[in-house]
Amino acid sequence: MTLDDGLAVGPRGHLLFDGIDVVELAERVPTPFYLYSGRRIGANAEAIRRAFTSRHAATEIFFASKACSNLWFLRQVHDAGVNVEVNSGGELAKALRVGFAPSQIVFNGVAKTEAEIAAAIEAGIRSLIIDSMFEVERAAGVAGALARRVEVALRIDVDVRTHTHPGLATTHGGKAGIDLDDALPAFARAVAADWLDVRGLHLHIGSQITSVEPYVRALETSLGLMRRLEDESGLRLEQLNVGGGLAVPYREKAACAADDYFCCTLTPDDYAAAICAVLERRRPDLKLFLEPGRAIAGTTAILVTRVESEKTKGVRDESGRRTSEERWLAIDAGANTLLEHTNYDWYFRTVVANRADREATAPFRLAGPLCDGGDVFVGDDGSAFRRFPAETTVGDLVVFLDCGAYTLEMMHPYNARPCAAAYAVVAGDVVQIRRADSFDDLVSADIADGTRLLGRSVRPE
Ligand code: PLP
Repeated sequence: MTLDDGLAVGPRGHLLFDGIDVVELAERVPTPFYLYSGRRIGANAEAIRRAFTSRHAATEIFFASKACSNLWFLRQVHDAGVNVEVNSGGELAKALRVGFAPSQIVFNGVAKTEAEIAAAIEAGIRSLIIDSMFEVERAAGVAGALARRVEVALRIDVDVRTHTHPGLATTHGGKAGIDLDDALPAFARAVAADWLDVRGLHLHIGSQITSVEPYVRALETSLGLMRRLEDESGLRLEQLNVGGGLAVPYREKAACAADDYFCCTLTPDDYAAAICAVLERRRPDLKLFLEPGRAIAGTTAILVTRVESEKTKGVRDESGRRTSEERWLAIDAGANTLLEHTNYDWYFRTVVANRADREATAPFRLAGPLCDGGDVFVGDDGSAFRRFPAETTVGDLVVFLDCGAYTLEMMHPYNARPCAAAYAVVAGDVVQIRRADSFDDLVSADIADGTRLLGRSVRPE
């Protein structure tokens, strides 16, 4: 495997992450743990900003905090001069807590509650993204009750097909956004509503979008819609929000097959060139809003796990005859720590950190620790097997790469397994950015005796 920027093999054959010996770190703190790179957060944000602002100066970047809303991580994003996109009242509160100004926050969501909309309006956020005809009325009602005007953009399902994981496609049959046929009436209602200032259109087409064509089609459709709306209403729109979706190369280039959405050869410059060319040709006056999550967070972290058990099991044919055998390794992190591996069969490359200088050619089945038959990691190259050095055994460290987005965020305590700690490399030192859950954390919301809610029996007479 070729190692990416920031990864190297040290003199003892150990994996180094931003210069830190991963094996030595795992001797000092318990596994599993995430290890982030402060340097990469800034570098990724800067690459995207430079790519877009050099082609379309009026571009603003809003980090999609659902990709990683750890407070330390959000602070790095803030300090890198990037704004933030939130998707719930909780994410809004986190963004405000780390010091984002309300004018740096946009708020998406398909089912925002009245309380969430009120909190966003009272905070004075930059833009509320309206997801349905229904939400036009809800937002107008809440804003009216507060007697506060709010800037809004309407999210339209531009009906563009994308080649990505089905769970990540948001247009063409997805749940998000206003149907294309309802776009003009929805805009008309929003323009007519008291308290709403309609500023733009939002078109997020999905995540891990590995080609530029869907963006170009989505932009052409959206700009056509905006022109019709402006002609009909006399309103002049000022923002076009293309959402996120910029992809991360999860698969090594050498192992890439056509049509594999884990492969991405595009750089931020490639996306920017395609998107900005359409904008410059058709509407250079528009402000371009972007909401990248994965492209800022994805390559910023690794997950360090330890092999806790090993076994060999037979493979049998229909008649029960043992035809071959498989070597299994079970590690201390499964879907509780890395949900996407079972949720979406997501592929994250792996390296055995204490044997990083050895050839990884022996096939292993790799399992998580959960009492769940599905807690088994997908293999390399579309197979069921991971390739590791043949001597890989109990006590070794299996490290997953490019684990910064939608990972820490999705940990859960299934099987009463505490969620993992997280650390970060900052200026050559390691800082802790999340402690592991304790047993007390695991039970802190449970009420063993049961608290009476209604104060009387609700049994039918
Ligand atoms: N914006 C919206 C509205 C989203 O739903 C998402 C995630 O799917 C994003 C931005 C971030 O997408 P990505 O992490 O692929 O950049």
